[in-house]
Amino acid sequence: MAEGIVLLRLPLPFALNHINTYLLDEGDGWALIDCGVDCEAARQAWDAALASPLLGGRPVRRILVTHHHPDHIGLAGWLSRRFDAPMSITAGEHAVAGRYSDPTRDIVSERMAFWREHGLPEDLVSWLLQRMPRYSKHVQPLPDKVALVNLEEPVLLGRKSWRPIIGRGHSPEHLSLYDASADVLISGDQILPEITPNIAVWPGGDQNPLQSFLDSLGKFMSLGGDPLVLPSHKQPFRGLVQRVIEFRHHHDERLGHLADACARPMTCFEALPALFGRPLRNEELGFGLGEGVAHLNYLEGRGALSSALDEHGARRYLAA
Ligand SMILES: [Zn+2]
Repeated sequence: MAEGIVLLRLPLPFALNHINTYLLDEGDGWALIDCGVDCEAARQAWDAALASPLLGGRPVRRILVTHHHPDHIGLAGWLSRRFDAPMSITAGEHAVAGRYSDPTRDIVSERMAFWREHGLPEDLVSWLLQRMPRYSKHVQPLPDKVALVNLEEPVLLGRKSWRPIIGRGHSPEHLSLYDASADVLISGDQILPEITPNIAVWPGGDQNPLQSFLDSLGKFMSLGGDPLVLPSHKQPFRGLVQRVIEFRHHHDERLGHLADACARPMTCFEALPALFGRPLRNEELGFGLGEGVAHLNYLEGRGALSSALDEHGARRYLAA
């Protein structure tokens, strides 16, 4: 992709069917950026790649994950234990990964009150409770060796010095890396071509993640140059500033549709078709509701909507 950087694309068993991981040449081995989800096909892809002439049979020296989502951290524990390689991660992401991995908690059932508050009918609450995949289904036990990233200092990886850039909104403390000398940005999920990162409210997390996401985009606008962007999904590209402008436009458009729909008091569930332009399938509802509440809370934060609980305990949003 760029000098000393190999893209390894791994399969994902989801609608979005792949993730890009990056291997950075460290001379006597490799530094990995992200690891893929824990599934048989991804483990096989790693085995084949690590044995291939391209990687020269050299070991993994360290692992960095951009954020805690299963497609990024899923195989970190498996790779870390296999090579005795530490995993670097931001403190904010490590905290959530630990909470989600806690075998004594069922994070999905902890979301039921949130789903009800936002108008999900009881049959769909039970459907989601049973069918929404648990974190551990796609995430190996976390690595024992963890190094929290010091955000005040450059990150040394692949014999290069990277500026850490924290993005919020998609996940709590998402790490992107910028190498000014080669003008290369490893963007993770924060900047993607073709698709937009999921921006959703989860109980216990950031309640206005869309504001956080849009605020974070400013940091990418001011990098200068025209970096080669290496994203976690789809193809590497140039045109970072244009892409950021497209993100803003995309959310503005959706916010407009939602505000229009709330001409009468609407629950988030009722407003979802207006936000997405179509009804959602059951398996899309978990993320869809989170995304809907993110947009509604953003509008409420700006004073464009107000919300109150109705007599059934469901939150209804009304245009101001
Ligand atoms: Zn993600």
